[in-house]
Amino acid sequence: MTDTGETSWGFATRAIHVGQDPETVTGAVTVPVFQTSTFAQEAVGKHSGYEYGRTGNPTRTALQRVLASLEEASFGVAFASGLAAEDAVLRLLDPGDHVVLGNDAYGGTFRLISRVFARTGITWSAHDLSAPAGIGDDWPAATRMVWVETPTNPLLTVVDIAAVAAVAGRKGARLVVDNTFATPYLQRPLAHGADIVVHSTTKYLGGHSDVVGGFVATNDSEVHDHLAFIQNAVGAVPAPWDCYLTMRGVKTLPLRMDRHNANAAAVVALLQGHPAVGQVLYPGLAGHPGHDAARRQMSGFGGMVSFRMGSRDAATRVIESTRLFTLAESLGAVESLIEHPGVMTHASAAGSPLEVPDDLVRLSVGIEDEADLVADLAQALDAGR
Ligand SMILES: *Cc1c(COP(=O)(O)O)cnc(C)c1O
Repeated sequence: MTDTGETSWGFATRAIHVGQDPETVTGAVTVPVFQTSTFAQEAVGKHSGYEYGRTGNPTRTALQRVLASLEEASFGVAFASGLAAEDAVLRLLDPGDHVVLGNDAYGGTFRLISRVFARTGITWSAHDLSAPAGIGDDWPAATRMVWVETPTNPLLTVVDIAAVAAVAGRKGARLVVDNTFATPYLQRPLAHGADIVVHSTTKYLGGHSDVVGGFVATNDSEVHDHLAFIQNAVGAVPAPWDCYLTMRGVKTLPLRMDRHNANAAAVVALLQGHPAVGQVLYPGLAGHPGHDAARRQMSGFGGMVSFRMGSRDAATRVIESTRLFTLAESLGAVESLIEHPGVMTHASAAGSPLEVPDDLVRLSVGIEDEADLVADLAQALDAGR
């Protein structure tokens, strides 16, 4: 296997083979966990390309190569968590620069920008980036970065990446897209004009709730050089074992995502027909305001579903009545999870423009049998009435 075939390979082939040639010394078919902090050097200043474990590690290199390939990016840099990846991207900004943030973003992203970066003289504002008209009209002149999540967490709002990219480009701002919910299997933001893609690999890419990690993809060599510098200079690097686990998960990403899509569609059908359920938020629904944009930029609608129960009590009763859907934070793994964003994942956004309704329930629909998931939710909805 050489690099020459890689660009013509399909997604599933790349997920299994890019960066993952048999190891040259023993022929090991699986990329080894290079559990070492340092590398022997042949002579002073003459090394294999690896010197020290923070600076580089072959297991990490393999992960970076496969994930970059899946995003169809020239460069990829891995971090110890999604937030460490976001931190590295935000360090592109200088004091006085402004970040435009979608008004519905992961709570941790909001906390990082409003409580960590704001202290360094970087300003921010939250905007509805899903409204087709007037995007950019109210952005301050100092805007150097636009931070988009699509679909968003937890309201499943869809942002038209190409539309926002056009405005960001005109205004001299870099467009960052958090692609955690869609994964590169369903959506590749760089192809729609994004400059930078960030991931929490903790979610669908790892896919098994057993590792925390982050990743950034870009085609911009200046951004890549910055990220590689920050990776080494700040040192929020993923451990070799975590890189291995993430890569192991990525091999089955296409199979898992197909199943997440199908199971989510079945769950949505149940919710829509149930008298206790209010609004159902899922980009696959024809009535969803972002449905057309989702169809243009996604090849499937994913496994995340949110819905409203009319009151916080009713939401809590459903959340505490499921048996298969486990009450937990996080998302994107094989097992189904249920949570209350207002109290759990998005508590840090309370009182801010990013606050979420308190009757909202968020599901991460897993890859169990569809009938079992539907039956579990049905009994929980009935128990809660
Ligand atoms: C979880 C998550 C993050 C943060 O990633 P960590 O790996 O938990 O640091 C960022 N964005 C989205 C959309 C997420 O779901």
